[in-house]
Amino acid sequence: MDYKVSIGLETHVQLKTRSKIWCGCPNVFGSEPNTDVCPICLGYPGTMPVLNREAVHLTVLTGLMLGCEINRYSKFDRKSYFYPDMPKNYQISQYDRPLCLGGGVDIDVHGVRKTIRIHRIHLEEDVAKNSHFEQSSGVDFNRAGTPLMEIVSEPDLESADEAFAFLVALKQMLLYGGVSDCNLEQGNMRCDINCSVRPADQSTLGTKTEIKNMNTFKGVHRSLSYEIKRQIEVLEKGGTIHQETRRWDDEAGVTRSMRTKEYAHDYRYFPEPDLMPVVLSDDEIESWRSAIPEMPAKRRERLTAEYGLPEYDAGVLVADKALADYYEEVARLSGHPKAASNWMMTEMRRLLTEKGVEIGQAMISPQALADLITMVHKKMINMTMAKEVFAILFEQGGDPEQIAKDKGWMQVSDADEIMGYVREAIAANPKSVADYRGGKKAALQFLVGQVMRASKGKANPSIVLAALQKELG
Ligand SMILES: [Zn+2]
Repeated sequence: MDYKVSIGLETHVQLKTRSKIWCGCPNVFGSEPNTDVCPICLGYPGTMPVLNREAVHLTVLTGLMLGCEINRYSKFDRKSYFYPDMPKNYQISQYDRPLCLGGGVDIDVHGVRKTIRIHRIHLEEDVAKNSHFEQSSGVDFNRAGTPLMEIVSEPDLESADEAFAFLVALKQMLLYGGVSDCNLEQGNMRCDINCSVRPADQSTLGTKTEIKNMNTFKGVHRSLSYEIKRQIEVLEKGGTIHQETRRWDDEAGVTRSMRTKEYAHDYRYFPEPDLMPVVLSDDEIESWRSAIPEMPAKRRERLTAEYGLPEYDAGVLVADKALADYYEEVARLSGHPKAASNWMMTEMRRLLTEKGVEIGQAMISPQALADLITMVHKKMINMTMAKEVFAILFEQGGDPEQIAKDKGWMQVSDADEIMGYVREAIAANPKSVADYRGGKKAALQFLVGQVMRASKGKANPSIVLAALQKELG
């Protein structure tokens, strides 16, 4: 039998604000446990939250980027639950009046374009982090009160590949908008997966299971591949899928049943009495809308139009905002956008992959690469040697001309010096000389190669060619 798959993702994104959502504690990662805390984010009784307006701005900005409708009036609610990561015994979240509704994310999978609808985006506080040791457990409250945006998709995703593409596209937009660092290792982006399968001829969705707290895109893909196969196998054997929460065991590569699903009413949502509703004016929303940065798809179009880049190259550069920013800087500084993209697409990407680093970690500055491009253009250095200089700049930084001079890699354009190499090559290769004079034009290329070798690759090839032709008559 054929089956249809429906997947919805609830993506939690930590917002890039300077301070936490209800207090002035810094919103940073990596401090000593329980040092970025105060009575408010520790949940002491009697403390009062004060809303960080920037968290609202970043959530609304996300909504605008994703084409959502922005609620002019939204409010916060208490979501009751009991767990050591939340001593208040409730999390402040948004229930029936979230900041954003609707919208969508475009994905492109195996050449098929599709829009994944967004159900809603709401703002809430992140909770503390539990750590389990051999003899004890600990709770770190540095993360408690970090502004957390939850983006809930409709169950429009139909495969693990589509879910992966959705997360990649979403991350790209969030990075472009400066909404979050989207650093998965630091837990900036985590998601819960809802997944169900049903016979292809059935219109109502099948019973869904939820896989909680995924913090890598690869994990999302693997767990979904497993879960889809598992559910189909259960149905094939005549069994039923139970609505439940499952945990992904990355090592074993399986999902395991954790607990049966709590229903929304178990959380006993009720309006947060300590916070005023959020009222947004049209003016405020419009001013935020006008400040939306250029999105990846637009930027790709612009790069092809403005710099004449091939679609593919523009797509690769745009996929990483920092890479595209770097490229545009080099293109502007060098005045050679095509050459700049060639360097980015070949040497730069090769070394970034080889060393496993991000563009921000490479030591070569946009100015240094622009200077190197200018040197090649002015024939001060040939391409082979320029690549050597690039490798040094990538590791150590510095000035390309100085490096080329120190290493003796500057191109030789001195006619006398080149003529010396030419005469050497002619004397050493009488057969090729005879072949050339006998009409074999290919012999000339061989002789050019010999001269280049004698000069250790530094001779200016066009001067070499002219000198050889002159000598050979
Ligand atoms: Zn605090």
